[in-house]
Amino acid sequence: MLTGSCHCQTVRFEITEEIRGFMHCHCHTCRKINGTVYGSSALVTTAGFRIVTGQDALTAYESSPGKKRCFCSRCGSHVYAYFDRDPQTILLRIGTLDDDPGVRPEGHIWVSHKAPWYEIRDDLPRFDEGPDKR
Ligand SMILES: [Zn+2]
Ligand SMILES: [Zn+2]
Repeated sequence: MLTGSCHCQTVRFEITEEIRGFMHCHCHTCRKINGTVYGSSALVTTAGFRIVTGQDALTAYESSPGKKRCFCSRCGSHVYAYFDRDPQTILLRIGTLDDDPGVRPEGHIWVSHKAPWYEIRDDLPRFDEGPDKR
């Protein structure tokens, strides 16, 4: 089992299934939401994801129609996101994990939105677009 948390430790979660689809997303939204040059996320299902503490502290921001970004309202950590049309899939902000998930990044998505002042320096596959903005 893996554990994760927001920075202030109010929100803690557990993951009991394999994490998949670890991607770096360069879309404009991830850049703004994370305050970073790209956002790193991976997929788990609600069946394998459980909020242990801090459910009340989580607040959802709709960053685009039907896309909810869930933050700790105390410290601002972006913990996960989901689409209304697929609420069973959790787009986990992988930096919130406390443990090594054992998976490694599989690629860069939304490279068409990449900051022109940032150069990708790895050999991972690059995709101009999604499937979805993470
Ligand atoms: Zn927090
Ligand atoms: Zn994105």
